[in-house]
Amino acid sequence: MLDIKITAASSKKEKPSDNVLGFGRYFTDHMFVMDYTIGEGWHDARIVPYGPIALDPSAMVFHYAQELFEGLKAYRCADGHIQLFRPDKNIERMNNTCRRMCVPEIPMEDALQAIKTLVEYEKDWVPHSEGTSLYIRPFIIATEPQLGVHPSKTYKFIIILSPVGSYYAGGLNPVKIMIERKYVRCVKGGTGEAKVGGNYAASLLGQKEAEEKGYAQVLWLDGIERKYIDEVGAMNVFFVIDGKVITPSLADGNILPGVTRRSCIELLKKWGYTVEERKLSIDEVIEAHKNGKLTESFGTGTAAVISPVGEYNDDGFVMTINNGEIGPISQKLYDELTAMQWGKTEDDMGWIVRVD
Ligand SMILES: *Cc1c(COP(=O)(O)O)cnc(C)c1O
Repeated sequence: MLDIKITAASSKKEKPSDNVLGFGRYFTDHMFVMDYTIGEGWHDARIVPYGPIALDPSAMVFHYAQELFEGLKAYRCADGHIQLFRPDKNIERMNNTCRRMCVPEIPMEDALQAIKTLVEYEKDWVPHSEGTSLYIRPFIIATEPQLGVHPSKTYKFIIILSPVGSYYAGGLNPVKIMIERKYVRCVKGGTGEAKVGGNYAASLLGQKEAEEKGYAQVLWLDGIERKYIDEVGAMNVFFVIDGKVITPSLADGNILPGVTRRSCIELLKKWGYTVEERKLSIDEVIEAHKNGKLTESFGTGTAAVISPVGEYNDDGFVMTINNGEIGPISQKLYDELTAMQWGKTEDDMGWIVRVD
């Protein structure tokens, strides 16, 4: 058990109304902070007023990007109580990322206690309207003040909370995706399966160029053969071909193992669908589209849950999917996952963790 000291903010912010929330623009009154020093381990767990943190300009995170993060949500149910969706999977993944980034791990129970305690302390910030939630962003940064390239000896683990709006205020609208032939997100042996800021920094230029052409995100192909599908933007990606649901396998370590991805696979199998986790080439997808066998495609992630793809553009060659409309499997997954997350249906998978 962590001994979490609480320092209350002297004044509370005015809470934004649910209809202006957007994503990650407002933050709650408090944050969780814990420090790591060699010899002492993780120590000084505390909840303090939300605000700027002082770091030495030579802190290693600023120079060599030794940093990692997680993302999950707290949901308010109809009866007012607050719950999390599979937080253990996020913490497990955070610790896998820690190992890849030479960052000391945080015991599962401690990380879960930190998240639950902070969310409960800030529970008035969990919004009430349909589709809204409290986004939870745990992250770890290297703080040692020196410029030699090696793992830092000191770290900060911080959790901040942000009330977020409904992703689909205007309905579940399919997005347009550009197939990325110029840039890559990661290579085998790299940090593709780790949730780190560096991956995002490297993805910005491709994303920006796609946006300039009117596309929401890019479809990343593998960094070696430029042939196999990895992910779409910051989401995992699924294709329905000939009635089978296919998603790229995690085996090569290129792909972020999404909690939503895993949950979709488990639900689809429970419902009796054939699910294949395997290498999937972009040529196979294009071929399936030509033969009329590609009936749906969707991205999965905590922010959007399910994001149907209405169109892929490959250097000017446009593939429209399901007439640019959401397909039945995407809709069914969206309905089931959101019903579980907001407590509208029985949790027969053991995925829900109550906060209060
Ligand atoms: C976080 C993330 C995902 C989605 O993971 P979820 O656990 O489902 O939210 C997918 N791809 C990338 C690159 C990510 O960072």
